[in-house]
Amino acid sequence: MIANIVADNYKRNIDDMIFSSMMVKSYGMQAEARILIIDENKNVIIDNYDSYLDKKIDNAEIRSSLLGTPKSGIYKKEHNEVLQLSVPITSNNALGNEVVGTVLISYSLNQVNQSIDDMKRDIIQISSIALIISLILTAISATGITRSIRALTEGVEKLNSGQLGYRIKLKAKGEEGKLIDTFNEMSEKLFRIEKHRKTMINSISHELRTPLTSISALIDSLLMGNSSLEIYDEYLKDIKSETDRMSELVKYLMESIKLEEMTLSLAEENLSDILNDTIKLITPYANKEKVVINTKIEENIIVKCDKGKIHEVFLNLIENAIKYKDINKKKSYVSITLKKDVNNISIIVEDNGVGIDEKNLNSIFNRGFRVLDDTLTKADGYGIGLSIVKQIIDRHSWNISVNSAKGVGTIFKIDIF
Ligand code: ADP
Repeated sequence: MIANIVADNYKRNIDDMIFSSMMVKSYGMQAEARILIIDENKNVIIDNYDSYLDKKIDNAEIRSSLLGTPKSGIYKKEHNEVLQLSVPITSNNALGNEVVGTVLISYSLNQVNQSIDDMKRDIIQISSIALIISLILTAISATGITRSIRALTEGVEKLNSGQLGYRIKLKAKGEEGKLIDTFNEMSEKLFRIEKHRKTMINSISHELRTPLTSISALIDSLLMGNSSLEIYDEYLKDIKSETDRMSELVKYLMESIKLEEMTLSLAEENLSDILNDTIKLITPYANKEKVVINTKIEENIIVKCDKGKIHEVFLNLIENAIKYKDINKKKSYVSITLKKDVNNISIIVEDNGVGIDEKNLNSIFNRGFRVLDDTLTKADGYGIGLSIVKQIIDRHSWNISVNSAKGVGTIFKIDIF
């Protein structure tokens, strides 16, 4: 490019040697190159460094240029690489285009090579640092993630081998931490479900074994023969009542399974009416058990609820209050209260029955739980009633609490906020 400009300028000012010489020096300085102008006889007429002035020089670039073809070549001179470039200077005359000389530019490549070397060195340095940093970062994040994954894999293996409730102790941040927390919650839930299932199976087997043993014993004595018709009649009645007990248990089981998928049909209902109807229904049983029912029920309290399910709740609580009376007390009673305060509505079922030992209070809402106590063996039940009560109350987003003292009595309280 510079060679072409120099050639062009020289051609136009061919007669003005002073201008041409200054122009060559100026371009030479700009390009940090040596610029020579050589005539058709290979004599140097302008040299920006002056030392080749009036000398004859000859090389492949000059020869090619004087024949009309620009040429470039690289030469090595004592560790010095030089780029040489020649462009012909042409003049238009009557014969056409005639080559009158050539511009020869020599440019030392050492500086360029040095810059390229520097650049190469910089690139290698930067990429090595980047590689080391990325290796360190990968190592840090990989070990963190693999540690969490390893802990989770171990946890899943433990659950799979039956160790329900196994907890991962590793603390991690962010998504991994959340995953570990969820795993721990899941493991805990599985443990609780399994525990409930075992308790339930235990209590069902216990309940089924008793009637089955007595049915078997009754049949054995009938099979021994020589029993009178009256004995047959009596034993068959006993067998019938035992099988009734068993089908009652199966009914309870079916109900409790149904409750798992319980859906409520909610409507605005008169809670006072539901409670009064339940009391009416259970009064004959209370009379039979000689338990007095006292009531203090505020009328026309309206709430949104599932009427059938709430009736079941009241029936269970009042039935228990009668069933678990204290036979050592002269008078047994159940007091039922329904009242509306500023902030809430409450239902209280209070009895002066046998009461519940403090150590058992936390378990009574668990499915299959019964207080197995000598004084209570006569009271029928499968330990399911209160768990159904709790589920129905929870589904309504209401609250149920219990207060009891052994030998004094029990208070169940439902709060509707
Ligand atoms: P069930 O009555 O069929 O055994 P529940 O779930 O209704 O089952 O009650 C669980 C246990 O709680 C009972 O076995 C009994 O020991 C205790 N319980 C419930 N209500 C009362 C009460 N009013 N007084 C004393 N104990 C009670």
